[in-house]
Formats: sequence, structure tokens, C-alpha cells
Amino acid sequence: METRKPHRKKEDYRLRTHLIHGNYDSKKWDYNHHVVPPVSHTTAYRLSSLERGARGFVQFASADEALSGHIPIYIYDRLDEPTRSMLEENLAYAEGGEICVTFASGMASISAALGTALRQGQEVVAHRILYGCTYSLMTNWLPRFGVQVRFVDFLHPESLAAEITPATRVLYFETPINPTMELIDIAAVRRVADQVNAGREEKDRVLVIVDNTFATPYCQRPLRLGADIVVESLTKGLGGFGTDMGGAVIASRDWYNSVMLFRKDVGGILSPRSAWGVLVYGLPTLATRMTNMQKTAQRVADFLCKHPKVASVSYPGAESFSQKALARQQMINPDGKFAPGSMVYFVLKGENAKQTRAEKLVDYLAEHAYSITLAVSLGQIKTLIEHPFSMTHAALPDEQKRAFGMHPEGVRLSIGLEDWHDIIRDLELALERV
Ligand SMILES: *Cc1c(COP(=O)(O)O)cnc(C)c1O
Repeated sequence: METRKPHRKKEDYRLRTHLIHGNYDSKKWDYNHHVVPPVSHTTAYRLSSLERGARGFVQFASADEALSGHIPIYIYDRLDEPTRSMLEENLAYAEGGEICVTFASGMASISAALGTALRQGQEVVAHRILYGCTYSLMTNWLPRFGVQVRFVDFLHPESLAAEITPATRVLYFETPINPTMELIDIAAVRRVADQVNAGREEKDRVLVIVDNTFATPYCQRPLRLGADIVVESLTKGLGGFGTDMGGAVIASRDWYNSVMLFRKDVGGILSPRSAWGVLVYGLPTLATRMTNMQKTAQRVADFLCKHPKVASVSYPGAESFSQKALARQQMINPDGKFAPGSMVYFVLKGENAKQTRAEKLVDYLAEHAYSITLAVSLGQIKTLIEHPFSMTHAALPDEQKRAFGMHPEGVRLSIGLEDWHDIIRDLELALERV
């Protein structure tokens, strides 16, 4: 294979450039002669000798092999595959982790992280608001395997130490929190874990697992702030175009073997076609999309803050944001600049009518707006709106939703790449009607 002779080290290039070119000297596939990496589609691989086959099985799931720069011996799609491997190299780099293992969906990656970290008799301590399916995984399925889950408030990490028991193995949370956009201090949770771990054996160490789906590695890199494992959905901001589902686990090399074996046996592999989309479209445009979406999100937040029908706006970049200092310390892009992201939550002033103003607004926009679409999901190039109280968080009892800061008048906006004038004008016209 001809290799290029780069005159600057890969690490000397900025992340935006790296995400476009990937590991140009990748040994996962010879694409020295492609401008765009190829998508490979084969379930099995031709083995030129029995010896090669045997070697392939021995090397499979070894971090030493994966990181050695040797050309891997591919055997069968569910074990390992080149398009996915190239995406994994690039995602690990983006998150600042040593290894990445991708999955068929964000939920498959969360299941794999928890499935490899936990044993029967151990316990998860999680923040009390979680993505609905993660909550369901933890309450409906983990207990069947002898893993208990307790939900506590991570917004005050100083009180977290008192919640940890000898059985606690995982501290799990999302930040920013969906949909209220409150932040959890990752470094502070790390400090709590370190205190507890001082007296524990390696296998019982408390692990910090962070779901980085909302921020994406462009706005926040939890491993650098002390997380042990990052999980995230590729379906949202990382994929960016809303065409494919996927998920990823990013961690240190120690996790590679068990997460790869878990994926092999549970089988939730990312299809090469979906991996290719994230590799070729999603990651290379991440920085540019986020930069532009963030500018618009800031403008939309500023507009909403001033609107007489809006009671409050929660956006990490808003003047009124209650955790400004933490936001500026934790949500930063790879160049060190403040990166508050593309998600905005706002609460309308209620009117005591049968239908809330938020429901009327969302319904009006669904029918009349061109630049804003009523849909779940987020992080796409199209601006999406939803009403968390009746939609994404409907499964939670009303009392619980209110206790967790979720308001019937709350609206969640995922800002896209449309011209910001149009988004604000559509919101302005809709707000006049409700
Ligand atoms: C969507 C989402 C998930 C699940 O991802 P899928 O790709 O839909 O399985 C997990 N966590 C958060 C925060 C999400 O928004």
C-alpha cells in the first residue's frame, strides 16, 4: 500500500479538518486511491488460508491489534467490517477516546455500555430525568438481570456521595438534560467517583457514563472532563441529516475487548451503509453544521427571551441561563470556544385555557410553518419542534414531570440550517396567533 508522507502530524490539524479527512493513513481499508472512502458490503470475507482464518479469530476484539496499525483480518460482518472501522477511528478521535465501537442505534450502544459494565447484584445510580427508552431499559429490563437502578438528583453533585452504596457500579446521566437543557457538572461527578473509588478494587470501581447525544463531541467531550465511557446516538446531531440510525460507545482501550464481544454476541451491529453515511456526510459536516445552527439558536433564544408571551428560555448561551459559569466551562468546542449547541427549550405564559398555549403554538406551526417541522428526534439540518409534556415525555406521570421542571407550557426546538430570519419569522407569526 502506498502511504502518504504527511509534513504535519495529524494532531496538528484542527478537528474540523480531521473530521473531513479521517485517518488518511487508515489501515482499515486501502483508500489511498479514493477521494471518498468506499462502502463495503460483504457478510463474509475470503480467507486466503486456514492460517489466516485462525489468526483472524485470535486477533478479533483485541485493542492491541485494533490500535497497532496492522491491516485487520476481517472474517464476518457481525465481527468487524472496514467501513464501520473507519467511522470508529474518526469518532474515537472526535470524542478524545482511545477506542469506539458503533451500534445499530443509540439504544443498542447504551445497552452495550451497561451490559458490559454491570454484573448481577450491582446497581446503577442515574439522574432522575433520562431519555425515555433509557429509563425504560433501566426500569423494565436491567432488574430482570439482577441489576437495580436508583434515580437521584445529579444537579447537586455534592449530595451524590451519600447516594452511592457498596453495590453502586455506574453513575449515569445526560447533559444537557432533555428537554429542560439544565447541565450536570461532569468534572464534579468525576470527583465524587474518585473519592468512592479510593477504597475499591478495580472490578468494583464506580464508573461514570455520560450520554453525549445532545451536545455532540463538537460542543462537549465528556471523556476529557472525567467520564469513563461516552455513549451517544448517531441518529441525531452526529448523523445530522436524519437518514440513518446508529449509536456509539467511546472509551479507553481497556473496554474494547468486552464491548466488541458484547456486540458480536448481542448482534446490534451498525450496517456498513449507515456507517458510511455518518463517515462521509455526518462527521465531515459536524463542525460547520454546529457552528451555523448554534448561531441561529442564539438568535432564536434572544428573540424568545424578549417575547411578551414567553415566560422563560433555557439555552446554555442565553443571558438568563441559570448555570452560565458551568456552561462556559463544560460546553466548549475543540478550539476552546463556548459552544452552547443547537437545542432550545422555552416555556410560554399560560392562559388557563383547555389547550395549553404551547400545544396551540406547536399545532399552528405544524400546519402553517415552512421552516419548522413538528417531529421528534433532533440535531438534523431541518428545524424540529415538539411538545415534551404530551409527546416525548408523556410516559412520565404528570406530578413527576412537574417535579422535574417540565412544564405543560414547555416547547423544545432543535435548530436546523435554514436561514435564521425565516425560523424567527415563523415563530413570530405563530406566537401572534396563540
Ligand atoms: C435519541 C436518543 C437516544 C437513543 O438513540 P436512538 O438512536 O434513537 O436509539 C439516547 N439518548 C438520547 C439523549 C437521545 O436523544
